[in-house]
Parts: sequence; C-alpha cells; structure tokens
Amino acid sequence: MKRKSSSSFGVLIGLAVVVGVALFVYFSSMFERNAPVITMAASKYWNLKKPLNVKIEDESGINSYKITMKSDKGSKELQYEQLITSKKSLLLTVEPPRDAYAIKGKNIEITVEANDVSKWNFFAGNSARKVFKYIIDKRRPQLAIVANSYKISRGGSALVIFKAIDENLKDLYIENDKGKKFIPQPFYKDGYYISLLAWPVKADTFKATVVATDLAGNVAKSYVPLYLKDKSYRVSNITISDKFLKTTANLANQFEETEEERDALEQFKILNGPVRTANETLIHNLSSHVNIDEKINDFKVNRVYPLKNAAVVAYFGDHRKYYYQDKYLTDSYHLGLDLASNTMAAIKSQNSGKVVFADFNGLYGNMAMIAHGLGFYTIYGHCSSLKVNVGDEIRKNQLIANTGATGYAMGDHLHFGILVQGVEVRPQEWMDQQWIKLNIIDIIKSAKKIINGD
Ligand SMILES: [Zn+2]
Repeated sequence: MKRKSSSSFGVLIGLAVVVGVALFVYFSSMFERNAPVITMAASKYWNLKKPLNVKIEDESGINSYKITMKSDKGSKELQYEQLITSKKSLLLTVEPPRDAYAIKGKNIEITVEANDVSKWNFFAGNSARKVFKYIIDKRRPQLAIVANSYKISRGGSALVIFKAIDENLKDLYIENDKGKKFIPQPFYKDGYYISLLAWPVKADTFKATVVATDLAGNVAKSYVPLYLKDKSYRVSNITISDKFLKTTANLANQFEETEEERDALEQFKILNGPVRTANETLIHNLSSHVNIDEKINDFKVNRVYPLKNAAVVAYFGDHRKYYYQDKYLTDSYHLGLDLASNTMAAIKSQNSGKVVFADFNGLYGNMAMIAHGLGFYTIYGHCSSLKVNVGDEIRKNQLIANTGATGYAMGDHLHFGILVQGVEVRPQEWMDQQWIKLNIIDIIKSAKKIINGD
C-alpha cells in the first residue's frame, strides 16, 4: 500500500514536471511558434537603380536571413546574403546587382528566407520563405515638347503640348519653380498631352518643367522653352480714411469672423487677412480641378468681355498696401479686373461652360464660377443677383448674373477673374483676340500639324 502510493506519487510528480515543461515550452517566448513575417513594396516594377526595401519581423527575434535573386534568363544567383542577428524587426535594402546592365530578361524573382531564434521545432526555430516577382523596366519615359506659346509674362498664361510615352507611365505633370503642379490632359492622339500654364503674379520668376515618372521609378524631365517677359504691376499705398473705416464697420456686420470685434481697424485687418484667405482658398480649390480622362481635341476659346461698354475701375495685379495715420496696417493683391457700367448691368459669358459655384463668397459677395474646360475658369464677383445654379451647363452669351455691390465693394461693379488651374491670371490677355490667336489657337494648329506628320 505504502510503496504503491509512493510510486504513484512519483508518477504524479513526473507527470507534473512533464506538464510543466510542456506548458513552459508552449507559452514561453523561447518556444514561440510563429514564422517570421516578410514584406516588400507592392510595386511590381523595378528599374535596377534604386534599392528595394525588405522588412522581416519576428516575435522572438530573427536568427538569419537569406536573399537570392534570379532573372528569367538563366538561374544564376545574383546576390546572396546571410547574417546572424537577434533583432525583432529588420529593415533591409536589396541593392541592384553590380552587373545590372547584364540582366537581359524582363522578369526577376527575389526570394527572401528567414529563420527565427525560437527553440520550437526541436530547437530549429520557425522559418519563412517568400518569393517576390518584379518586372524590370530600366527605360525612362520618352518626353518631347511638341509646341508651346512663345512667351509668358508675369501674371499671364501660356499653352504647352507635348509627347509622353512609357509602357508603365505613372505620373505626368508640369511643375513650376515654386512647386505648383499643372496637370495635363490627353490631346488629339495617343501619347500627346496639353496644358495651360500660369505665372503667378506674386512670383518673381517662372520656369516650367514637364515631369514624367513610371511605375519602376524612372523619371524624365523636359524644360518648356518659354521666353519670360517680366511685367511690373502697380503698387498702391492707400491711406485709409475714417469714412472708409465706417464702410468697413458696416460690412463687418455681415461676417462671422468680425462679429466680436468692435475696433474698425482690427475689423479691416480681419477682413483683409483671414476672411480674404478663406474666400480665395475656396476659389483656388474649385478652379484646380482638371478632368484628366477627358481628351482635348481643340480649345476654341472666344475673347472674353463679360460686361458690355464697361470701364475698368481697378486692374489685375495691383499690390495694395494699406496705412492708417502713417501706420502700416496690411496688404493685399487685387487678383481680377474691376469693370463698371450701369447698376445691375447684365453679365454674360462669351464661352460655354459649366457652373461650379453660385453662392455668397465673403468679400466677393454673390459670386459665380464657370469651368470652361482645360483648367480654364472665370469668376464673377459682387453680383446683385445670380441667374445660374451649380451644375448648369451654360451656352455662349447666356446671362449669368447682374452687377452689384455685395461683399467688399464700395460701389456697383463686377470683379471679373480668370483662373488657370487654381492660379489667377491677367484677364486682359484673354480679352485680346490677337493674344488668343497667337498663344492658344495657333499653338494647337501647329501641334496638330507636327503630330500628323510624326
Ligand atoms: Zn475687384
């Protein structure tokens, strides 16, 4: 009896030890059972110039890894690496093989193998193996300027038509020297693109470069050869009168931002600062849209003259600096053309388009914005009444609105603005038939001629 119980006690202890060890093995991180996780970038293309990134992660730590590369022309091992580490996460770069030029095949396979430090699998650890396939693309996109406006002036517009060819084209844009990107639209025949450009009036220099990138990361750039014509704009030092401030105070009642402010000078600064910025941001955002899927076959734009028999009361680009009793207050740029005729005069558009905004917009009062295609937009501010709604397709010479003095306006007039992909440009160019012919119509004509002969 005694012997038997002591032996069963021994068995129990033995069993407890076995269970204990099993539990330890099962729950201990030393015996973790998850294989390393291997990840690589999702891109299927590689230009054999930039290294590829590989990430290996493991709960217990990585013991070793191995990377091999195989091209479809022969199974020569192109690269081999092995390292002992115990890190839980490794970020590796796979350098392009030194004899990259010798790789003739179009496909490459990268095999990543990794082992962890776990004692699982009878101390062998867990292992993972993953194969990644890449298509080799060493060729840069083919870029060529086909035709462009001969010159661009500060605050003005221009047109460029170019060719861009690549099997794996990813991004295509025209960048200026201030980082603004213009988005081109397909033009006329496959592989050709068109875009309007704008030299922002506040920028002292301008340079436009077409940039094309492909899925493998190859980049091609082509400079648009525009002759730059600097144009100076008026700088006005305006001393604010008490009468002007009284008008401002009356206006300030219309705006949420100046509700709490009682001081007329502060009200003026708020209107000219944050309120103006918010109103302009709305205009810039709406007019930045370009339909990249729409193919442009032609851009027959008519000379704009929104108001018949109107007098210009303020020019585009005026830099206004405001003072009160010799003290500098704030400044602003006038980014449109102010036209005045009779009160509540009829505003008409000489070009068809689609209404993208028809509502109150702060300092601009009741405002309409029309998209005419190719990133070309017109805006009409301070209107007494709007005759169109968002989404309306408008015809040539259709009545859009009547002039007024809503928003920040001292008298009945139209604030007329033109935007090219979110940049205000000088309306006078687009009011000049000769300018339109030389810079838009003729460029499209000569581009088509070149493309047809290509
Ligand atoms: Zn104006």
